[in-house]
Amino acid sequence: AVEIRLASRPHGEPTLENFDIVDVDVPRPGPGQALVRNTWLSVDPYMRGRMSSAKSYAAPYEVGEVMTGGAIGEVVESNADGLAPGDTVLHQLGWRTHALVDADSATKIDPQAAPVSTYLGVLGMTGLTAYAGLFDVAQFREGDAVFVSAAAGAVGSVVGQLAKLRGASRVIGSAGSADKVRQLTEEFGFDAAFNYKDGPVAEQLRDAAGEGIDVYFDNVGGDHLEAAIGSMNLGGRIAICGMISQYNATEPQPGPRNLVQFIAKRLTMRGFLVGDHFDARPRFIEEVAPLVADGSIAYRETVVDGIRNAPQAFLDLLAGSNTGKMLVRL
Ligand code: NDP
Repeated sequence: AVEIRLASRPHGEPTLENFDIVDVDVPRPGPGQALVRNTWLSVDPYMRGRMSSAKSYAAPYEVGEVMTGGAIGEVVESNADGLAPGDTVLHQLGWRTHALVDADSATKIDPQAAPVSTYLGVLGMTGLTAYAGLFDVAQFREGDAVFVSAAAGAVGSVVGQLAKLRGASRVIGSAGSADKVRQLTEEFGFDAAFNYKDGPVAEQLRDAAGEGIDVYFDNVGGDHLEAAIGSMNLGGRIAICGMISQYNATEPQPGPRNLVQFIAKRLTMRGFLVGDHFDARPRFIEEVAPLVADGSIAYRETVVDGIRNAPQAFLDLLAGSNTGKMLVRL
């Protein structure tokens, strides 16, 4: 068996040296435990935060600890009630080939209902983040013009498509390459998209938005947030989901310079964590699973093979080499 541990805390951008790839014995399940052979691992931006010692909503990884997070695998041996060999389960034990789970820390998933990898992406944590952020936090309404950043990523690509399906007047996305920009309009159905590396975000957004925007779903922060405030219409709503442009920052970052616009425009801005929205999961699955099954919602996955490549997959995610959900297949 192999597991990947945090070797040291990064200062700024993480590197491969921050991870240890360790060979270990396959663990044996104790009473109440099942042994799971993992098939898919999730690599996610929030893990960058957990590599730092700073206190946040998710506890920091300890140095020497396995990189825990979403993973899917198959039960191979079980002493746990309700889990049997052959069951496919979702759990949070992260970057390891084999995991010992107990019945209440693993969720059984139906491999017939959808490809199992989707339970880490479009039908999993990132899909629910998009759903809850757009509808419950940003209070999206039919006819709204919506802007989403990191739009070709796991969360962003679902935000844009959900907004379109629920009657957005216009959906605009930003992403970091010409290829992603093309995918946004050609594959994900966005009305307009731009590459934030091509020029000032404020100008590009103004051009793409036309009449302005009513909802901004922020995955990036920084100049994207300032640009969105500048293009916001009266009564506009901003959902702060992530600020990936700041995750490697070693100094506090400046805030938007145009917050004064909140007053006349009567804007609201609200941060959220998907963990507070698990109650939305049943209606999310009920609405979104059929749309994924019939192709109304397109999803992409960027798949890296082999557990030893998980650290590189994570670094590549932060650098933007993924479209849709970044996953490691074992
Ligand atoms: P993505 O699939 O969107 O991958 C991250 C993407 O961020 C990259 O592909 C890259 O795309 C983009 N990116 C990286 N650096 C920058 C930068 N400096 N400026 C602009 N874009 C950048 O990841 P997720 O969909 O999993 O997550 C998206 C966001 O949502 C993250 O901020 C994450 O932290 C947040 N999140 C928050 C949750 C919550 O509960 N609040 C839950 C899940 C995610 P590109 O090529 O376009 O630059």
